[in-house]
Amino acid sequence: MAYAIPLWTPPALPISGSGDTFPVRRIFCVGRNYAEHQKEMGGDGRETPFFFLKSEFALMPTSGGKSIEVHYPAKSSNYHYETELVVALHKGGRRIEAKRANDHIYGYAVGFDMTRRDLQQWGKDHGRPWDFGKNFDESAPCAELVPAKKIGHPAKGAIWLNVNGKQRQKADLGDMIWSVPEQIAFLSEHYTLEPGDVIYTGTPAGVGPVKPGDELHAGIDGVGELKVKIVAAL
Ligand code: MN
Repeated sequence: MAYAIPLWTPPALPISGSGDTFPVRRIFCVGRNYAEHQKEMGGDGRETPFFFLKSEFALMPTSGGKSIEVHYPAKSSNYHYETELVVALHKGGRRIEAKRANDHIYGYAVGFDMTRRDLQQWGKDHGRPWDFGKNFDESAPCAELVPAKKIGHPAKGAIWLNVNGKQRQKADLGDMIWSVPEQIAFLSEHYTLEPGDVIYTGTPAGVGPVKPGDELHAGIDGVGELKVKIVAAL
């Protein structure tokens, strides 16, 4: 028995200070996990966060502070950035208690949950899925993973984004509604989590559109930085 077509390589993230990479299984994303972002999206800042998924093939890894080019997506004219702390799990499980959840974390990175806001809005308006708004080619740029054994588990610290040198997002990881351990606990009630699963932990306020030529530069204290240049659609 052989595969009928050539087997692909699993998407993977580079690891800071290592020649190894981290294979990625699934990408879970939390929505509306910062009160000020809930408000800018039309909520009251007191809603319960929720999850959606992106394909692991949406990943656009980069490392060493190198800027990567991301294509403006098809079928959108309102393409948004969302700067997020990304968490990578090296240990899976079900019904993981929040107080033990950090043991499941391999490391952290800075990521963008890129969004076709117009297609997402169409989905909301019509009671349809979010996939075309959230899960599309190149929609998950991500910098290198920094192992938790090096930096611990950041629960506080600045998370920021500059677009073309102007600050667009600035908040603190401590502003999250669901902490990272709470997100892992919640997800593990609904899914059997596996090594290689990754979580995008939500974006603060200040989301907005970008166009070809724009340069995004994001950072999270103690975790790293991510640089992306938006280029013309394919
Ligand atoms: Mn997001």
